[in-house]
Amino acid sequence: MSKSKKLKNVTVGQVFKTIIWPRRKYLSIGLVLIIISRLAGLILPGASKYLIDDVIPNGDMTMLKWLILAVAAAIVVQSITSFALTQILSVEAQHLISQLRAKVQRHIIQLPIRFFDNTKTGELVSRIMTDVEGVRNLVGTGFAQMIGGVLTALICLVLLIVISPLMTAYVLIPVAIFGVISMKAFGKIRPIFRERGVINAEVTGRLTETLGGVRVIKGFNAEAQEIKTFEAGVTRLFLNVKESLVTTSLVTSAATLLLGLASAGIMGIGGYLIMNGELTFGDFLAFTLYLGFMIAPIVQMSNIGSQFTEAFAGLDRTEEILNTPLEDEGGHRTLQLDHIYGDVVFDKVSFAYEAGKEVVKEISFKAPAGTVTALVGTSGSGKTTIAGLAASFLNPDSGTITVDGHDLQTISLQSYRSQLGVVLQDDFLFEGTIRNNILFPRPNASEVQLMQAVQAAHVQEFTDRFPDGLETLIGERGVKLSGGQRQRIAIARAVLADPRILILDEATSNLDTESESLIQASLKTLMQGRTTFVIAHRLSTIRQADQILVIEQGRIVEQGRHEELLEKKGRYYQLYTYQARI
Ligand code: ADP
Ligand code: MG
Repeated sequence: MSKSKKLKNVTVGQVFKTIIWPRRKYLSIGLVLIIISRLAGLILPGASKYLIDDVIPNGDMTMLKWLILAVAAAIVVQSITSFALTQILSVEAQHLISQLRAKVQRHIIQLPIRFFDNTKTGELVSRIMTDVEGVRNLVGTGFAQMIGGVLTALICLVLLIVISPLMTAYVLIPVAIFGVISMKAFGKIRPIFRERGVINAEVTGRLTETLGGVRVIKGFNAEAQEIKTFEAGVTRLFLNVKESLVTTSLVTSAATLLLGLASAGIMGIGGYLIMNGELTFGDFLAFTLYLGFMIAPIVQMSNIGSQFTEAFAGLDRTEEILNTPLEDEGGHRTLQLDHIYGDVVFDKVSFAYEAGKEVVKEISFKAPAGTVTALVGTSGSGKTTIAGLAASFLNPDSGTITVDGHDLQTISLQSYRSQLGVVLQDDFLFEGTIRNNILFPRPNASEVQLMQAVQAAHVQEFTDRFPDGLETLIGERGVKLSGGQRQRIAIARAVLADPRILILDEATSNLDTESESLIQASLKTLMQGRTTFVIAHRLSTIRQADQILVIEQGRIVEQGRHEELLEKKGRYYQLYTYQARI
């Protein structure tokens, strides 16, 4: 997704409303603490002036003791408040990150299948885990330090004016120049930070794919290629960081230079004023100390500025995801069907993945409740797409699909999908035990229900040979099992789900002939009483179907039962006899 240019900037107002205002309690406590801490810090220059101009010349020992005590007390207050400050705000910042991560994940998982077809997994991982990270600075110490810094700078400014308006005027010129420079710089680095998020996501995305496809990479001896691609990615990342580092360090150096020159000038003016008796030693000392106190936060502000810029860039990207419409866009799917009967009707349904390229063309058919509809056709003819439409993974571009007479697009996804079972060719299993994978759709199912599913899908035939039986760990995506074993677990999972509508997309393609014939019987039991859509490349699987739809280039070209279609000696007959020969 390199559409960073189309990204909308998140505004300060939005951030205030969604992030700052809800945390007003923490932030105002933080603010009070930082004010106390800064005010305590300001005692030091005043005390120094008092020491030099009054206490020392008068030889006042009692005052000296009180002075030291006051300074020590101020330092203790400062340490305690800054500890409390970081505790409260850093913890709240981490809390914000975890909330935001959960929010982004919650949104992403409710996005339509089409979104996932077009986005790399690793990229989404990076959105959830990395983009959100920078936002921490908004409520963390950065925020308090910024407010505290501005406050300190303002108080110091007043005190500087009180001590010497002339020297203050001189100091303000470089400060103003610095302000202009840093504003410009932050405008420049926001797109760089945003680009960093994009690169980060791309590199993570590719890396996830590389690691997932390690067998293919090794099988084709393509390690060198992957190493090169990854190196190119991290180099892009490096160059991006370098670009922003140049800008941020320029800002910091500009601060050091301008403010250093100001200090040199102050020595000159101050020395002159003292010689003319217009300034005391104590005043001069206090002025330079206050100046230091004013300058420190200004320089620090450039760091905070880049942290904030990073946070805003991360939010820009996070908001982009949060603004992607959910699967149930606008929450229109409100119809709750607690007991689906299972009449499915396609009426002139058309669908295209890309505009102008229809993959499903005006398909109409009825799948009455409890019947088996088989979809047959060459690879790429549109069978999986039709199944996807029936599962409501995809929505028709025109025409309607109805379930029990209701437009599928009005039925609550939660209520529909809880009565839907899907078994796919390369079905996804999760890291963990065989038991947990079968229990996936109904974690609270009873042991009896589990064992029924296990038997129906002939899972026991191979788990009995494993020392750990159903407790066997199957590795990521089930890599420690054979394709046929994985498929049987997927079938058991569907049996346990006990759906009203069942979709089997090449669900038996990985089984050898023997286990397939074993499974046939259990599939037959599984299909009983459910509206089933079955796609099988082995025609033997579909002989029993109530109706067979022969699909060619997205259209139904023949429709009927096995015997009828064979008699017709048309397309089905061709497909069937062609397969019988092999
Ligand atoms: P079948 O299951 O019959 O083999 P599919 O329904 O998977 O066929 O695919 C039908 C057509 O749609 C193919 O030309 C395929 O290239 C295209 N297609 C499938 N999935 C996508 C997708 N996610 N994005 C774009 N095109 C797709
Ligand atoms: Mg397919």
